[in-house]
Amino acid sequence: MLLGAERPAVGGPTSLLGLDRGELEAWLLAHGEPPATVRMRARQLFHWLYARGAGDAEAMTTLPKSLRRRLAEEACFERPRIVTEQLSADGTRKWLLRFSDGQEVETVFIPEEDRGALCVSTQVGCTLSCRFCRTGTMPLVRNLRAGEILAQILVARDALGDWPSAREGRRITNIVIMGMGEPLFNYEATKAAMKIALDGEGLAFSRRRITLSTSGVVPRIEPWGREVGTGLAISLHAVRDELRNQLVPINRKWPIAELLAACRAYPVRRPITFEYVMLRGVNDSDADARELVRLLRGIPAKVNLIPFNPWPGSPFECSTESRIRAFAAIVEAGGYPSPVRTPRGRDILAACGQLKTASERETRARTRIAALA
Ligand code: SAH
Ligand code: SF4
Repeated sequence: MLLGAERPAVGGPTSLLGLDRGELEAWLLAHGEPPATVRMRARQLFHWLYARGAGDAEAMTTLPKSLRRRLAEEACFERPRIVTEQLSADGTRKWLLRFSDGQEVETVFIPEEDRGALCVSTQVGCTLSCRFCRTGTMPLVRNLRAGEILAQILVARDALGDWPSAREGRRITNIVIMGMGEPLFNYEATKAAMKIALDGEGLAFSRRRITLSTSGVVPRIEPWGREVGTGLAISLHAVRDELRNQLVPINRKWPIAELLAACRAYPVRRPITFEYVMLRGVNDSDADARELVRLLRGIPAKVNLIPFNPWPGSPFECSTESRIRAFAAIVEAGGYPSPVRTPRGRDILAACGQLKTASERETRARTRIAALA
């Protein structure tokens, strides 16, 4: 299914998606809106863009015709194009989205019984190179803009029929910033996007339902908590610096002790999620589990054990089921809930970075075939 693939790329000088009320006001003023009405118009526009998901000026029926015409001519509300949509047997959906400059990211919707989480990307590629992560094998191409981060939510809502966005009955109830890229290395854009996602007149998500995952950009953790205040997830994956230096190389800059100190100082009163990918024979021993409990002492936390999702050429294997159970039992006995994250969407390669590389391979194969022809 290629939902939205035929949506034309709307031409126009400024993309308004991602602008907050103040920025919309400034744009409107610069484009001829009288000062007396500019605040009201900016509010209306904000509502149309983010609470109603309007994709073009014509739909914004509470705006005067003349303004709609101006918007149609001088602005755009461009959504990325859906290149592919894949639906897993377990209901997980994964979209590969292409922006106007041709760059692509993926966004994944994971439905559960009583909630649905949308996993959004913040960068094309990643500057970091965690050894088990496929995105880590891609160089950073660029940061996403605020509008491009938000657009992932809007496109997913379009595709799921999730408008209008009253809190009740939504399919997307949670946002997890766990797609491609390191969000705290694209701080300002991610912050601007989440401010609009949290805004009661915007996408109206509650703080409790947004979680940012970081590999450990220590100096940005406290500011994120203070300025945005979402839930926090830490990609820990190892309990000793020597091993974490290998698996999550950012650890060489900000080692475990500094990372955990930042967690202790996180200004949001909510348990922190520690993500721990289970790598067979690498980080999954009983001693590792005991050390994890010791390290987390004093931090309200939950440990998400993630079965490693292998990709072609990946240097690791997933721990055995019985090993994961034994590891979880020790962490639970230490007082930390440690759910094992059920692998979702494996049949559609829904792990970090996998669809995009598959698409790149296909493109390369096509190019080779074209060259041979
Ligand atoms: N850059 C951020 C957010 C994106 S990665 C971060 O590292 O936290 C989202 C999560 O997926 C991280 O916990 C990451 O460690 C995990 N992950 C990446 N590749 C994986 C794989 N092949 N199998 C299981 N989990 C993986
Ligand atoms: Fe980047 Fe996160 Fe993947 Fe590490 S796990 S390479 S930080 S996306």
